[in-house]
Amino acid sequence: MSSVVVSGEPFETQVPLLIVGAGAAGLCAALAAKEAGAEPVVIERDAVPSGSTALSAGLIPAAGTRFQQAKRIDDTPQLFAADIQRKAHGENDPAIVEVIATQAGPTIEWLAERYGFPFDVIDNFNYPGHSAFRMHGLPTRSGAELIDRLRTAAEAGGITILTGCRVETLFAGQDGRVRGIELVRGDGARERIGCDALILACNGYGGNPALVRELIPDMADALYFGHPGNQGDAVEWGRALGASLEHLGAYQGHGSVATPHNILVSWAVIMEGGIQVNAEGRRFCDESRGYSEQAAEVLRQPGGIAWNVFDDRIANVARQFEDFRNAEKGGALLSAASLDELAARMRVPASALAEAWRDVERCKARGLADRFGRSFSAAHNFVGPWHAVKVTGALFHTQGGLAVDASARVRRRGGGVFPNLFAAGGAAAGVSGQTAAGYLSGNGLLTATVLGRRAGQAAAAVGKVAELRS
Ligand SMILES: Cc1cc2nc3c(=O)[nH]c(=O)nc-3n(C[C@H](O)[C@H](O)[C@H](O)COP(=O)(O)OP(=O)(O)OC[C@H]3O[C@@H](n4cnc5c(N)ncnc54)[C@H](O)[C@@H]3O)c2cc1C
Repeated sequence: MSSVVVSGEPFETQVPLLIVGAGAAGLCAALAAKEAGAEPVVIERDAVPSGSTALSAGLIPAAGTRFQQAKRIDDTPQLFAADIQRKAHGENDPAIVEVIATQAGPTIEWLAERYGFPFDVIDNFNYPGHSAFRMHGLPTRSGAELIDRLRTAAEAGGITILTGCRVETLFAGQDGRVRGIELVRGDGARERIGCDALILACNGYGGNPALVRELIPDMADALYFGHPGNQGDAVEWGRALGASLEHLGAYQGHGSVATPHNILVSWAVIMEGGIQVNAEGRRFCDESRGYSEQAAEVLRQPGGIAWNVFDDRIANVARQFEDFRNAEKGGALLSAASLDELAARMRVPASALAEAWRDVERCKARGLADRFGRSFSAAHNFVGPWHAVKVTGALFHTQGGLAVDASARVRRRGGGVFPNLFAAGGAAAGVSGQTAAGYLSGNGLLTATVLGRRAGQAAAAVGKVAELRS
């Protein structure tokens, strides 16, 4: 159980900077802190750092990078900030959005130049809500590659990562200043470590069913697709410390997880012109608004499932993702030469599927939006064979958390900030507004990397001041 103890007892071991969690946020924080002259110690509950970062596609949105320039993509941080706010219905603090949108490009350049991350920009399809191609990914398009590269960079930099250790308790002084932690090792041994500054990079509460039921009742019974270690410790500690917590109902859902295979099917299949129908062969909403809000839409359909229907050109776009290739290898893709044959394989009424598709073709031909408000590009006519994947909605990660300022410093409930407590990634409140609909693709790794780096820089400065005082 995570808890906070108010105590002035000294610690046998004292370090300048502790970081809880070795995902993208924790490792970016550690790299930045080390560059700034601090000696961070990262504590990670798993034997090998992976986190939700490893489960992701590893795609990070950023504006104005040299990777975009190389492909002649016009984009600016201002445009990016406007996209973030539009998707979140203006529910985010504009100051935080501005910092994040402005710093995303430099963060990508930093990882590329300083640590040799071979990013490039996906430019053969776009994600909902982004008005420019700005998703930066690594060659495998997988988060496993991202976390492996971050861990390798941290190890090469001599950063200490204590693995197999779960932080359970925070110690705070009477003034609310964080003083240290207690961790539990795999064999049950406990150890206390004092610190001058603490960064919480232990992600959100998606893996804690009680907190999900309390804060996101819509997703209480949904499949959780993130890392099981995301137990909501930052929220529990924040509540006990009197921190300000924001947007606790926000989350990244996904309406396209192949079932029963439990493999992500890229939203490219929808953005390139594919549709979703329910078990009755009928469409049920504008799928192109976003995959996050689509999770709850799909779960509301009969049997809590839907079918992604698309053609071979779209399948080829999606095949750049390892997950999609795995879904295909695992038999999740049904293929047929005609729509009728596909309907038979899907076991949905052929007449309903044919009518749904006729409606789409009619709208395409007339250049009109359909009855749900979705517009289809007339440029892409479907060519066989046809494909379908049965999918369900899932909870990927939570977006609410500790409210932070532009330096990732945790805010107090009554105003002001904690002087030596920082949060980044899923531990901090994101920039996705208050609901699943506010999640713009890439917001997860965006705040993990950008806020992680900023937290590392700012916390290193706290550590240095403490060093000078002692
Ligand atoms: C399937 C999937 C696909 C996704 N795709 C994308 C994408 O393409 N782009 C994008 O931007 N986002 C994506 N996301 C979201 C993204 O993965 C997360 O937002 C991001 O990884 C969060 O990073 P983090 O460092 O905060 O958390 P994590 O990577 O989860 O790291 C947190 C770490 O903290 C550790 N930890 C937790 N509690 C403790 C404790 N008490 N003591 C010690 N260690 C602890 C955990 O073990 C974990 O290793 C996806 C998520 C999922 C699940």
